[in-house]
Amino acid sequence: MKFLKQVGDYTKEAVQAAKYIGQGLSVTFDHMQRRPVTVQYPYEKLIPSERFRGRIHFEFDKCISCEVCVRVCPINLPVVDWEFNKETKKKKLNHYSIDFGVCIFCGNCVEYCPTNCLSMTEEYELSTYDRHELNYDNVALGRLPYSVTHSDPMVTPIRELGYLPKGVLNGHDLPKDTRRAGQLPEEILEEMESQKSAEAKTGAEAKS
Ligand code: SF4
Ligand code: SF4
Repeated sequence: MKFLKQVGDYTKEAVQAAKYIGQGLSVTFDHMQRRPVTVQYPYEKLIPSERFRGRIHFEFDKCISCEVCVRVCPINLPVVDWEFNKETKKKKLNHYSIDFGVCIFCGNCVEYCPTNCLSMTEEYELSTYDRHELNYDNVALGRLPYSVTHSDPMVTPIRELGYLPKGVLNGHDLPKDTRRAGQLPEEILEEMESQKSAEAKTGAEAKS
């Protein structure tokens, strides 16, 4: 009896092992039918999605040294170095800097700046060997951002998941004019505007 039980247990384990091997191989065979989606960085780069929060761009001439960006920043990060000009009775901005080694790219400063002199760009390649180089002064902040789609002819832009047509998971070899899944931002705006005007029209009709 003991021998039979041992044979039964062994058979059960062998069947279980064969099942697990089969499950593993099914994943392998499934991947053999798919195309690789590896992005060959830096020769290929993913296009950042809309509203991506990359390196901040700063326009020196627009800044009024109000320091709102400092107050809304969760870590009081932007350094606004200004002096009061007694003749013009206005603040004069001397230097402005943001340390991207500390910044969490929350976008609060950009959101609340009253003169819109700050903006988030799609630049994400900020790595350096020395973290002090991440402290950008107003000159570095004022540099036009790198754009995956426009800056370098040697780089092939690859659409990331949010820009792909429905059911497509690989951004390689897609025809340029392939439409992505979902509505485009301009279409959403158009729809909102037409809704607004329709509501205004019905409101006016109800009043008259
Ligand atoms: S993005 Fe956020 S953390 Fe960075 S400077 Fe602006 S407010 Fe501060
Ligand atoms: S909120 Fe804008 S205008 Fe005010 S100090 Fe900051 S960057 Fe300059």
